[in-house]
Amino acid sequence: MDFIMPNNLGRQYNLHAQEYEKRAIEVLRSGWYILGNEVKEFEKEWAAYIGTQHCVGVASGLDALWMSFRILGIGEGDEVIVCSNAYIACVMGISMNGATPVFVEPDEYDNLDADKIEAAITTKTKAILAVHLYGQACDMTKIMNIAQKHHLRVVEDCAQSHGNHWNGKTVGSFGDIGCFSFYPSKGCGAFGDAGCITTNSEEIADKFRVFRNYGSRVRYQNEVVGTNSRLDELQAGLLRVKLTHMDEFNAERVKIAQRYTNEISNPLIHLPKVRPNADSTWHQYVIHVPKYRDELAAYLKDNQIGTIIHYPIPPHLSEAYAYLGYKAGDFPIAEQYADEVLSLPMYNGMTEQEQTYVIEKINQFQHK
Ligand SMILES: *Cc1c(COP(=O)(O)O)cnc(C)c1O
Repeated sequence: MDFIMPNNLGRQYNLHAQEYEKRAIEVLRSGWYILGNEVKEFEKEWAAYIGTQHCVGVASGLDALWMSFRILGIGEGDEVIVCSNAYIACVMGISMNGATPVFVEPDEYDNLDADKIEAAITTKTKAILAVHLYGQACDMTKIMNIAQKHHLRVVEDCAQSHGNHWNGKTVGSFGDIGCFSFYPSKGCGAFGDAGCITTNSEEIADKFRVFRNYGSRVRYQNEVVGTNSRLDELQAGLLRVKLTHMDEFNAERVKIAQRYTNEISNPLIHLPKVRPNADSTWHQYVIHVPKYRDELAAYLKDNQIGTIIHYPIPPHLSEAYAYLGYKAGDFPIAEQYADEVLSLPMYNGMTEQEQTYVIEKINQFQHK
C-alpha cells in the first residue's frame, strides 16, 4: 500500500482532468484575465448553488471575512463572537479591522455552542461569526434568533462547508453575508487562492464589487478606499467546472464517512456526531481520541497513513493573539479538543481498498 495522504488533490483532479485542461486553455486563449465573463457566470452559478441573490468573487477566504466586517462597519471598539476552536483565519478576519474576537466554546458537534452565546454578549457586541467547521452546520435557528433579539449581524464562515445544510437550507444563505474560501483543499477547491461572498442584500453585494476593485465602479473613479481582491478569470473558469461536480464530490465523501462511522469500532476513539437537522459534507472526518491521540497518529504514520490535527493550538493561545491576554485554562473545551482531535484521510478519488485499510489499521490500534 502506498502512503495514504490525509488529502490527495491529485486524485480529485484526475477524476475530471480533461475538463479542467480544456477550460484552462479556453481562458488562456481568451485574452481576458481579470473580471470578465467567467467571473460573472461563476458568481451567478455559485449564488444559485447556495441559494442567495448575489455572489461576489474575491481573492481568498480571509479577504471575504475581513472585507465583510469592514463593509458592515465593524472595527475598533466592537466585539465579534466566534467559536474558541476556530481556524486562525476566522479570528484574523475579525481582528484585521481592529475589532475584538470574543470566544465562545464549541459543543459536541465541534461547532459554536449556540446556548453559550448570550452570556458572551456585551454592549460592544456587533456580530456573530458562525464558522461551519469541518463541513457541518452550526445551529443557525438559534444563532439567527439570538442575533435578531440583540440586533447583531451574522457572518457565516463557510470555507469548510460548500453545499451542506441546516434544516434543508444551504449554509451561507442564513446570515447577512456568507464567506467562502476556494483554497485548493476546500470542497470546491481552486487551483490557487480564491474566495467569494454570498448575500441577499443588493447593497452589500454592490459594496463588495466596488471595494474589491480599488473602490472603483467606473475605471479611474474611486468612491472609497478599497483594496485589490479579485477572483481571476482562470480560477473562476476552473471553479465553474468544479461546481458541475459538487454533488458528486459531496456524495462520495458522505459515502466514505459512512464507512468510517459504520466500521471503525476502536473503544479508544470517539466518532464525529452530526447535529440533528444538519448534514455534513465531511470536509474533514474528525475523530476525538481523549487519550493517546499522538500515539495513534504516530502508529498510523508508521503504517503509511497520514493524518492532520485541525487545529493543534486554539486561537486564544496562539502567539499572534498574546495581546488579548488569555492563558491556558481560559477555554478548556477548545483546549481539550486541540489535544484530542485527529482528521482521518478523506478525499475524492479515495479507493475502497484504501478506506478498508485505514479502518483495519485504526481498529487494530492499541495503547502500548
Ligand atoms: C480556509 C479557511 C479560511 C481562509 O481561507 P483562505 O482562502 O485560505 O484565506 C477561513 N476560515 C476557515 C474556516 C477556513 O477553513
